Amino acid sequence: MSGITHRYDFDRHLAVAQRLEILAWDVLFSLAAETVKQAAASYGTKTKKTATDVKGMLIFGAASVMYGSDRAAAAELRYAWHRLAPMLRRAGVEVSDRAPDEAAWQYFRRTYLSDPDLVEQLWELVRETSLGMALEMGIFPEPSTEHRWLHPDHLATVYADGTWVKPASSVGIKRGRVVHKSRSTTGRPRLSDDVDTSGRNHGYQHTVILARRPEKRMQLILDVRRAAPSRDVKVAIESVLRLRSRLGDRLRHFAYDRALSSHDDITRVMRAGILPLTKPGNVDAFDDWKQLKGRRIRLDRKQKKAIPFDYRFDDGCFHHLAIDAGMLWDMNNAGGVLYYGKRAEHREIRRVDRADGSYDFEIDMRLHCRRSGDHDFTWSLTGEVPRLNHRRPLRLATHLRPFPIAETKVSGPALTVRQNAESNFKRMKDFLGLGRRARSFKALDHEIDLLLVTIAHNALVWAEYQQRYQEKPKAA
Ligand SMILES: [Zn+2]
Repeated sequence: MSGITHRYDFDRHLAVAQRLEILAWDVLFSLAAETVKQAAASYGTKTKKTATDVKGMLIFGAASVMYGSDRAAAAELRYAWHRLAPMLRRAGVEVSDRAPDEAAWQYFRRTYLSDPDLVEQLWELVRETSLGMALEMGIFPEPSTEHRWLHPDHLATVYADGTWVKPASSVGIKRGRVVHKSRSTTGRPRLSDDVDTSGRNHGYQHTVILARRPEKRMQLILDVRRAAPSRDVKVAIESVLRLRSRLGDRLRHFAYDRALSSHDDITRVMRAGILPLTKPGNVDAFDDWKQLKGRRIRLDRKQKKAIPFDYRFDDGCFHHLAIDAGMLWDMNNAGGVLYYGKRAEHREIRRVDRADGSYDFEIDMRLHCRRSGDHDFTWSLTGEVPRLNHRRPLRLATHLRPFPIAETKVSGPALTVRQNAESNFKRMKDFLGLGRRARSFKALDHEIDLLLVTIAHNALVWAEYQQRYQEKPKAA
């Protein structure tokens, strides 16, 4: 970063050229360029003189994603080249007086970058380097022994979300033998034959893993992985477990959307010592639960069903209970119909060691009872509770959430973080123009786009972090 002498106004919108300047100085980007350079040793040795070197070509690639198309990038760079070229030279990029064009980039990508092994090697570099950045930014602080599990904040937490990237709009999608939506002008449909099609989605599904500091924009992408349809949760968990093996107890929480709801997935995360932050599976809006109190139990709608069960506490007291919106409710029985009564209080969460070296989480709960005072009880979050009206016990991981969404003091910070992450994904996609990118027909092309986006995104965060939090004030 030392090469950048002036300050950026990160609170305002940065011009693409400014982002490219930051990128050119970025450490991770420079390392990535070195890696590509080794693989592309023959680049620039041909008779025709190239407009720029490997690093410069990668800058063109990043510009292409940011501007939304190769042609737009070529036009913008051509226009701004007299200002950009000296700046790029200062950052160690070899450039001539003419800007690289889209043909040069497409040739470069096809010839030197479109190698799955090289792309994976670059992702590995991104994972390693961004994790180092995250540590340096204090996102995963030294773990304290007295971690308050019921009160997470932004730190020590990774977020993930699945995201679909569509192939360029003019590309045909083959469903069986039928080609849809090819707007080819040459009569030969340009086919994207490796897209995933599932339901109404088509394109390439990826799982993005992030971590953040609480301040605005201070969010790093730690990993991006391609996921086959409906495999996004598994892919996210693999990535989180890998981070856990690197970070140990510096990583405490994993925030994901409600797709993380199966007993096996949640148990796997908890066994690794990580407490998931997820919205309950049968809730859309955060205040859905408000409508429940005093109402008749909801059993009719398939997706939003409550789970009623009859239960006897240790002192013999019998209750009609239900789990709904991730919380435990005492139900009032009026003429055989159940109505929502009081909610059980979440009092504390503890992580406990298991004999095999893995972990479990226990929750202390309290249910107010008019007949016999408060019931205080402890359940394992991966465990089961017996049901008097059912042969099989109830598995809690699927239904009971550690953080009750009704208690905003407890769940607020955790779930707001989760919501922020979601809106950031959207912003990232809009801002970086993914999905409108022309000439990216194949999975590997999108992989390369996403790689450049990720590096560019982290470069901006890192530069802002350095400028805002690391620079010593200058002496007067
Ligand atoms: Zn009771």
